[in-house]
Amino acid sequence: MEAKTFQLDDVVEMKKPHPCGTNRWRIIRTGMDVRIKCEGCGHSVLMPRAEFEKKMRRVLESGAKT
Ligand SMILES: [Zn+2]
Repeated sequence: MEAKTFQLDDVVEMKKPHPCGTNRWRIIRTGMDVRIKCEGCGHSVLMPRAEFEKKMRRVLESGAKT
């Protein structure tokens, strides 16, 4: 099983889209808990990191400034 790596400012796709119809979430906080913000409506959700890793499908855009 592939380890999920993510970092602050990444845009990720979740297994379930937000009810507003958008499935693009920006990671705005990481740590013990992860806060993600819906790119469609701006709603933000805080969840434990383990739960986030379970619900996240993939990283769409890296927030890394290279
Ligand atoms: Zn939304």
